[in-house]
Amino acid sequence: MKALVYTGLNEVTYREELTPEPAAGEAKIRIEAVGICGSDMHAYHGEDARRIPPLILGHEAAGVVLSGKYLGQRVVLNPLICCENCLDCRSGRSNLCADRKLIGMNYPGAFAEFITIPEKNLLLLPDGMNPVHAALTEPAATSLHALYLAEKALHRPVSEGRALVIGGGSVGLLAALILRAHGCKEILLCDTNPLRRETVLKTACCEVFDPQNEPQNLDDSFELVIDAVGMETTRRMAIRAVRPGGVLMHIGLQQSAGDCDFRKITLAEITVIGTYTYTHTDLEAALQALHSGALGDLSWIEERSLSDGSSAFSDLNEGLSSAPKIILIPKS
Ligand SMILES: [Zn+2]
Ligand SMILES: [Zn+2]
Repeated sequence: MKALVYTGLNEVTYREELTPEPAAGEAKIRIEAVGICGSDMHAYHGEDARRIPPLILGHEAAGVVLSGKYLGQRVVLNPLICCENCLDCRSGRSNLCADRKLIGMNYPGAFAEFITIPEKNLLLLPDGMNPVHAALTEPAATSLHALYLAEKALHRPVSEGRALVIGGGSVGLLAALILRAHGCKEILLCDTNPLRRETVLKTACCEVFDPQNEPQNLDDSFELVIDAVGMETTRRMAIRAVRPGGVLMHIGLQQSAGDCDFRKITLAEITVIGTYTYTHTDLEAALQALHSGALGDLSWIEERSLSDGSSAFSDLNEGLSSAPKIILIPKS
């Protein structure tokens, strides 16, 4: 089969790889659509020690089942393979499973014509759903999981407060779209990339600004701030912007260290919540939300052929793409 393989620093190569065959309990899937994630970009930059080349990346995938009990059905993959036995798995927090494995990291990923994955990791697509839209399920579930955690900590429903989203990649944009769908009327989003700002503006779900040129009265004025970038500078902005008693959701993983204002966090009783991935239930809810149209027409997705994956990676690297998500399509 053909696959897009991470072969070394800032290099992905479209080449021939062995076609995988399913073991017991697994299904073989023909990939129809697979998104490029920020974490795939980290790997490409050599910044993720867990992803070692040569490796087929990609974990945001939809396709058709070629073997086993779901034969012929369209599915989305749950890329997190968990033990189902530990305390976290049994209490509904499988994303925290210490034994969790991820396709595109611990196993070959979905930037390929075919993949094998446990049957329990498949979600059936609603009838007639476009697999390109379905490939957004994973980032949408990440945003939805963050919002569920935030709602538990907020003292008022999101519909009664203002929200700031830092970062207009797919997780940031999907967070804004989900907040809008949950009735939040005042949402601001910032991104340093002007092409992306324009794309986010077209969705009309939020106001958009350049962090170089921030609006007045940003400080202390948002019940909810979502940092979908995770750098020292974005965390500083997030803590400045959050209102006393408010919540900061930290999703981005760009920089692990750096200074931040613990004095304000303390004096203003800010709740800071780290959030990572999703559960199977979050994926099901995200798939339904995408299918129902609650998150808009998703016309901001850019489709490219998997064989052009290398140029997609370099365009993302250089900030030349206006799309918050590029989805790769293997040739059928
Ligand atoms: Zn992802
Ligand atoms: Zn577990």
